[in-house]
Amino acid sequence: MAQHPSDMRLSPGLYIVATPIGNLGDMTVRAIDTLRRCDVVACEDTRVTGKLLKHLGLSNRLWRYDDHSDAEARARLVEMMRDQAVALVSDAGTPLVSDPGYRLVREAREAGIATTSLPGACAAITALTLSGLPNDRFLFAGFLPVKDKARLDCLAGLAGVPATLVFYETGPRLLKSLDAITRAMPGREVSVARELTKLHEESRSGSATGLAEHYRAFPPKGEIVLLVGPPLEGVSAEVDPDVLLREALAELKPSQAAAQVARATGLDRKALYQRAMELGRE
Ligand code: SAM
Repeated sequence: MAQHPSDMRLSPGLYIVATPIGNLGDMTVRAIDTLRRCDVVACEDTRVTGKLLKHLGLSNRLWRYDDHSDAEARARLVEMMRDQAVALVSDAGTPLVSDPGYRLVREAREAGIATTSLPGACAAITALTLSGLPNDRFLFAGFLPVKDKARLDCLAGLAGVPATLVFYETGPRLLKSLDAITRAMPGREVSVARELTKLHEESRSGSATGLAEHYRAFPPKGEIVLLVGPPLEGVSAEVDPDVLLREALAELKPSQAAAQVARATGLDRKALYQRAMELGRE
């Protein structure tokens, strides 16, 4: 999109603008410039974005756009983009990443609207870079389902994905998610990133069981990203399959325990079943 001197209005179109995830210093120079020069800011919550703009000394026209906005509201916004510069922001971080905007961007593109995205803070990427987990391949899976069975099924479905898994999480649900990871993905390295870019930033790694123990004693506050390292490859020198089987057998039948450990380790399910039966007899 055309660049103008900083005191000029922007050319019409859609500008997707990332905002900070806590530390206001993470607002980029280009994001500030774009918000200053755009005609309208489309945002999830006018109070949250109003505060950010006030902090920046701006008082743009705000236009509410969130998950509840219907097709008509979207169409009006797209129509506006034909002769005005519309900036899309979310409450925090990169719009569209577990935030509204996907349909709006799709429809703007279909309508031939000039569209650009200004990169900036994103909790998933910040947590990934901090975790020490392999990041050559990762899968961002948003929030886990709230219901116990759906959460476990979701994790079981992801257990074989050869990548680091990244989830958004909340304090009240963290323990349930860690317990479900212990069951669906035993033996995997887990990382919890909390309050990123803020005063009480924390990134803690370990087993799901160990982390659950810690957060049972110190209930987690604030915003959280939960990461699970990739499946262990073959017979790992560091992981004893017996340990994983015993852990799984505490809650599951031998066939289920064998299937779970097979998914997590890539070891042969039949061999694990035999071993699970032996362990059961011990
Ligand atoms: N679009 C945002 C982004 O780019 O990260 C994410 C929006 S999503 C609705 C909000 C979730 O992101 C929170 O529940 C939390 O899981 C995660 N999150 C946002 N800010 C965070 C922070 N400072 N530290 C850790 N997690 C954060």
